[in-house]
Amino acid sequence: MENTNKRVLVTGAGGFIGHYLVRFLKEKGYWVRGVDIKYPEYSPKDEADEFLVLDLRFLDNCLKATQGIDEVYTLAANMGGIGFISFHNSDVLYDNVCINANMAEATKQNKVKRLFYSSSACIYPTYKQENPNLVALKESDAYPADPDNEYGWEKLFSERLYKSYSEFYEVRIARFHNIYGPEGTYDGGREKAPAALCRKIALAKNGDFIDIWGDGKQTRSFCYVDDCVEGVFKLMHSDFKDPLNIGSDRLVSIDDMIEIISGVATKEELSAKEIIDILSANPDKKIKMNEIAGLISSATKKVLQKKYLLDKPQGVRGRNSDNELCKKVLNWEPQVSLEEGLKKTYFWIDGQLKTS
Ligand code: NAD
Repeated sequence: MENTNKRVLVTGAGGFIGHYLVRFLKEKGYWVRGVDIKYPEYSPKDEADEFLVLDLRFLDNCLKATQGIDEVYTLAANMGGIGFISFHNSDVLYDNVCINANMAEATKQNKVKRLFYSSSACIYPTYKQENPNLVALKESDAYPADPDNEYGWEKLFSERLYKSYSEFYEVRIARFHNIYGPEGTYDGGREKAPAALCRKIALAKNGDFIDIWGDGKQTRSFCYVDDCVEGVFKLMHSDFKDPLNIGSDRLVSIDDMIEIISGVATKEELSAKEIIDILSANPDKKIKMNEIAGLISSATKKVLQKKYLLDKPQGVRGRNSDNELCKKVLNWEPQVSLEEGLKKTYFWIDGQLKTS
């Protein structure tokens, strides 16, 4: 734990990345105020020293939120997966413009010293993302601007908005690339692809069909949430003033991701009877000792069939993060493998489904 007397604000602290950031900053020894329109769904609200329920679309609430604060992390946004942001354009634009304009102004009026803004890989232009095997996106690729949805346009606008306030306080901006992990939304319409696929695979029985949005060939990179908050913290305390990618540079298709989840979704514990049943399926087969674990794991792996829904929104064809600048300025890049991160995510969602 680092000793610090700093008081920090995390907005969007009732959401996915925000509540991880609260936990991370508490472990570092900060005094943390969380603000959101709702309490965290999957973690205790008292992880923050203080939690205020405020609608940050309004300046007076942003002034309350930033009162007596040294550093602000702004993560509050009306957002969701591609299904949500494709069909709620005016809400996304209105709410997020109001939140960001009022947060930027309140941070100035309350003389806060430093602000972090969570932008998105959605700001990158459509014409650079038309091929599943695209060249990874560098920060300098943002212009000429042509984001493929309104959520991306608002993020790009707000990058510029916060930068315009850098004459009053230090501004740091990250462009997140598909952050995933446990304790995030996994149903209800706002969930993103990793959580939605984990849910579908957890609910499916061996041999079932699962619905896939698009043809499964669209590509993305996915960054585990622990890596994301670590990158945010490093960026916040760096001297780098321009937007920076925070994401993984491992490009996978949605079909690849389904394979990985199905692979990690094998049972972690089996009863002795289940093991005997698997091993005695072919009673005369000779099995080497070192093959036993692999045999049991492939016998418990779910084999699923895919139904591609080509009329559902799937976003750009391909998107990957170029991490050269991130490695250079932070001397760091995400560490958690997709297999490790998806395993944790899958078993958390599976557990939620079993207890709900
Ligand atoms: P999230 O939806 O889980 O969290 C956002 C939080 O903002 C929610 O808890 C929501 O209640 C809160 N909020 C919405 N309107 C508000 C308002 N008027 N006042 C106060 N709070 C309000 O999303 P997340 O995945 O944790 O994303 C956090 C930030 O990172 C967002 O700004 C998002 O746009 C950005 N981002 C996320 C990803 C990702 O893959 N998760 C990718 C790119 C950018």
